[in-house]
Amino acid sequence: MNSPASTMATPSARAALHACAGMAEDTRASTTALPKAVLPTCTPQKWLLGQKALVTGASSGIGRSIALALAEAGADVVVNFVSGEDQARAVAAEIEAFGSRALVQRADVSNEADVERMFAAMYEELGTIDVLVNNAGLQQDAPFEELTLAQWNKVIGVNLTGQFLCARAAVREFKRRGVRAEVSCSAGKIICISSVHEVIPWAGHVNYAASKGGVMLMMKSIAQEVAPYRIRVNSISPGAIRTPINMQAWDTPQAYQELLKLIPYKRIGEPQEVGRAAAWLASDYADYVNGVSLFVDGGMTLYPGFETGG
Ligand code: NAD
Repeated sequence: MNSPASTMATPSARAALHACAGMAEDTRASTTALPKAVLPTCTPQKWLLGQKALVTGASSGIGRSIALALAEAGADVVVNFVSGEDQARAVAAEIEAFGSRALVQRADVSNEADVERMFAAMYEELGTIDVLVNNAGLQQDAPFEELTLAQWNKVIGVNLTGQFLCARAAVREFKRRGVRAEVSCSAGKIICISSVHEVIPWAGHVNYAASKGGVMLMMKSIAQEVAPYRIRVNSISPGAIRTPINMQAWDTPQAYQELLKLIPYKRIGEPQEVGRAAAWLASDYADYVNGVSLFVDGGMTLYPGFETGG
């Protein structure tokens, strides 16, 4: 499925993709009311058979869903966590239920020694790395004049420096090892989990927006530098996804209605939807995609304030 010769969709894969795309009925022609939001059901594809992936911050939320999506696509997965080992072990059990190998690794991604130890453990157990998903992230919010240096450093340390440390470790291995043609036509893939706030300013969250803006140009600059080695580096930039990080934006009906004003597609995103995007982006189906931010945001970056003409 993942050899260079098999990068074109088979008829069954094409049917599955179309089945996924066609789930939501388009009722616009038949009614003036807005159509009900329908979540897609998608047939998983074994796009990543034989590949070794590492997902940071994989014990919850988007990271957990990405780890599961990569395992469902056939990859063995390192589940990185910094706290809550039980949750990480539960994710590992779900990965193994797909028939993939899972390795649980505690590491603070903002700590260089931790990151080096985690990659060494991965090579010891799984041999190498083909896919890195830089997902670990956090928020520490404050009005700008009250933002402490500690809050600034913490968020930049995890969200930006953490992505740098992990990307550097992965690139070293990709360049050392080169292409494994039996699993992929590229020498390695890095997916940075950014945010719509890499382009949308965010009052009260200056450290977070600065970290994600930094991720955008870090990702593009690494991509430009390592593309000749057949290494692909991209971002996924989620909008509002239903996870613990933003619970206050969706856990009451009033909060949810307010949130929908920011989303042209009129529903919150689910973590599995980011997982599916990551599995595709890591696969040879996306082989010519390099240095881009893939917005998975229901149109949040489409200036929703202008929805009715401005
Ligand atoms: P989450 O809080 O469930 O996940 C974040 C994960 O990162 C947690 O498992 C946490 O333990 C881990 N983490 C924090 N500090 C770490 C460290 N130093 N080392 C290792 N791991 C660490 O929230 P989430 O929504 O799943 O967030 C995942 C990513 O998605 C983050 O980068 C976040 O900025 C991004 N994102 C989320 C949304 C959203 O709407 N949920 C939108 C845009 C971007």
